[in-house]
Amino acid sequence: MEIDSIHLRKIELPLKVPFVTHQATLEKRPLIIVEVKDTGGRTGYGEVTAFPHPFYTYETIATAWHVLEEQLIPIVLRNEIDHPVEFPKLNKSIQGHPMAKAGLEGALWDLYGKQQQKSLSELLGGVRKSVAAGAVLSLTDSLEEDVGLLKKEGFQRFKLKVVKGNEIEAIQAVKTIDPYLPIMIDANGQYTESDMGHLHTLDKLGLTMIEQPFQAGDFYLHRRLQRAISTPVCLDESVMSVHDAQQALELESCQIINIKISRVGGMTAAQMIHDYCQERGVPVWCGGMVESGISKAHNLAVASLPNFSIPGDLSGSGRYFHKDIIHPEIVMNRGEIAVPQEPGIGVEVDDDYLEEVTQKSRTFHR
Ligand SMILES: [Mg+2]
Repeated sequence: MEIDSIHLRKIELPLKVPFVTHQATLEKRPLIIVEVKDTGGRTGYGEVTAFPHPFYTYETIATAWHVLEEQLIPIVLRNEIDHPVEFPKLNKSIQGHPMAKAGLEGALWDLYGKQQQKSLSELLGGVRKSVAAGAVLSLTDSLEEDVGLLKKEGFQRFKLKVVKGNEIEAIQAVKTIDPYLPIMIDANGQYTESDMGHLHTLDKLGLTMIEQPFQAGDFYLHRRLQRAISTPVCLDESVMSVHDAQQALELESCQIINIKISRVGGMTAAQMIHDYCQERGVPVWCGGMVESGISKAHNLAVASLPNFSIPGDLSGSGRYFHKDIIHPEIVMNRGEIAVPQEPGIGVEVDDDYLEEVTQKSRTFHR
């Protein structure tokens, strides 16, 4: 791919309102932007979507920066890479750190698309020109008011972040707006074995799915719950690799998988999980990380694959941020978001704004 240099930036984007889950409050969104430049002057963009604290998975912005500069970037600079799928093979000796890996691999995919003059969606075998948008409501959102507005905007699915004990109240509040709205809850692993009976009561509420009820790594309790309830269990934090997805389906621990490019270690793994689930007749959807337009563009490309048959955490640039680092910004139109068709991620980066929000940066040369 004739890679010349790699540039890392830590940026911080102001959020319109804090994003709150039972685990943490995000007032601003720090991210790492990875730029891979080739000798022809083209730039591929990737993004590391780890959070500042290890509440979602163990990775943080600081650990990702460290692993990128000490381990992953040297691998790319000392090898000749012809295609982005080679990068996961080259970084196999680095244990874990999927988000750091995904950020760099994402930049390679964007650059490769630009070199080949093909959109990322086309490179992956995407079949959709637009994908369905889904809203995520954090604990700061006023449910009745916000769900009403988001419904009017056209969102096709409503995911509620919940706190144990308040789920029924939250779900009922949304149902007063429209009893037929597709609602799911995301527990982010907050239940334990002693909540099994409580989770049975949620089975009667007509939810489209319950996402990640138990902690990551526990395929056993998810399997027990899925055997006992008819509401589909969806796994998020539990699936950090292709192997995790295989275990989850072999053990019948879930009926749906949330694929996040960052959490599973990159686009190559995301596509492999998609294909594996498709062969098994298990639907998938694309999860979000409160990310910038660079990640959103990567997400739209992966969500254009055929088995992404459930609306994901996909929204326009304006859902969380006053201003995005790409232009034109990603917009939702009647519940659908267009999949970029230009080469690579298919969006332009706003260099001036990117510079304005950059807190630190470092360039690595071959
Ligand atoms: Mg989740």
